[in-house]
Amino acid sequence: MSKDKIDWYRVSNELHYKYKGKIEVVPKVPVLKLEDFAIWYTPGVAGPCKKIKEEGPDASFEYTLRWNYAAVISDGTRVLGLGNIGPEAGMPVMEGKALLFKYLGGVDAVPLVINARDPEKFIEVVKALEPSFGAINLEDIESPKCFYLLEKLNEILDIPVWHDDQQGTALVTLAGLINALKIVGKKLSEVKIVFVGAGAANIAAVKYTRIAGADPKKMIVVDSKGILHPGRPDIEELKEKNPWKYRIAIETNAEGRTGGIPEALEGADVVIAASRPGPGVIKKEWIKKMADDPIVFAEANPVPEIWPWEAKEAGARIVATGRSDFPNQINNSLGFPAVFRGILTVRARKMTDSMFIAAAYAIARYAEKKGIHEEYIVPTMEEAEMYVEEAVAVAEKAIEEGVARRKLGRDELEAEIRELIYRPRRYMDLALKNDLIKIYPPYPR
Ligand code: NAD
Repeated sequence: MSKDKIDWYRVSNELHYKYKGKIEVVPKVPVLKLEDFAIWYTPGVAGPCKKIKEEGPDASFEYTLRWNYAAVISDGTRVLGLGNIGPEAGMPVMEGKALLFKYLGGVDAVPLVINARDPEKFIEVVKALEPSFGAINLEDIESPKCFYLLEKLNEILDIPVWHDDQQGTALVTLAGLINALKIVGKKLSEVKIVFVGAGAANIAAVKYTRIAGADPKKMIVVDSKGILHPGRPDIEELKEKNPWKYRIAIETNAEGRTGGIPEALEGADVVIAASRPGPGVIKKEWIKKMADDPIVFAEANPVPEIWPWEAKEAGARIVATGRSDFPNQINNSLGFPAVFRGILTVRARKMTDSMFIAAAYAIARYAEKKGIHEEYIVPTMEEAEMYVEEAVAVAEKAIEEGVARRKLGRDELEAEIRELIYRPRRYMDLALKNDLIKIYPPYPR
């Protein structure tokens, strides 16, 4: 079957129906005879229960699976581009995410879709789940609720909380931007950056590019109603309903520009778009008015805000999209598996901004070592060693920041992380060889 001709929806429907789930729980301790359950279950199991009770809750990271378990939690209110389709319909995505967590990061992730649209109820449920997990990944939750949930949960939980639609995208975007700027020879602190879209992805991108050194005064952010500025008619409404966007309206755009995307792009060095599927959201004529060597990130899925060839024809020096069929794919999968590998390996209590920045630089450095150019600013998902380097960078920073429960030297970290990252691939080989995982049609070969 030619890959271009594959009807991915049909293949996916048939295979999801056939396999009925994408991950399963398998033992990792020996069970050679039934008597072994005296160790793994009663009476022996009371031993570690008492240990944890005596030593305190953190001992659960040492005596149970908790240290390597992450929850992938969604209320199903904004699933992919499909909107509020509900928790049950969101499950295939959460399971897929769990598969990626395991395959790329060696992380045991549990997909959990919950009936909790109300933010306070959602927080209560996640807080109640905390004792089972070493970290929480929030997924596909509507904005602006997702900003509040992330902030609040990070504050009240003693394990890291990550929202991949915000931070995952921002992380890989920042890594790509660092390298793109190296290629054009411009400095992050000096460039004019336009953000098209002010939702989950770009509000986080604004936050973290600022933390990395970009100047908010030189940023302009555009949403579906135009450029954000303090004089916008909806500013009071934003203050009340979306304080995250409100702060951006106040703190960016020092020139006080008004209008829409074309006005914002005039003279800009970089555009980072995460708005709505194109093409035509960004027009060629507008790219032509950007500064020399423009950098264009058009991240909307499934169709970027402007086709890469159009952006190039208009003079863009570097173009990145969310798609694997064009160069420079800005893909969350380069981020979250390694970030979680790092935080889980050192049993981190928090995910700090410095850990985030360390991850972004690790991704960028990996690509740079291999040789960056206009069509290679970030690594691809095939580059397993990148995940090792990124996870080590996160873990080391967690130790340095004093948020790690466990402290290891660089060599130990690297060895442990590498083993965990490659282990699922070894498992997959074994399962395929032993017919534990079968290949059914219409699996494309
Ligand atoms: P969101 O719904 O939270 O935000 C969308 C934002 O875009 C809103 O601020 C909206 O006002 C703005 N917008 C819509 N139409 C616009 C227009 N014509 N001009 C300017 N702004 C406009 O969504 P999100 O989670 O931030 O995702 C946005 C897009 O980015 C989606 O297409 C999504 O698929 C894509 N995305 C890609 C990646 C990736 O890895 N490549 C990751 C996350 C999101």
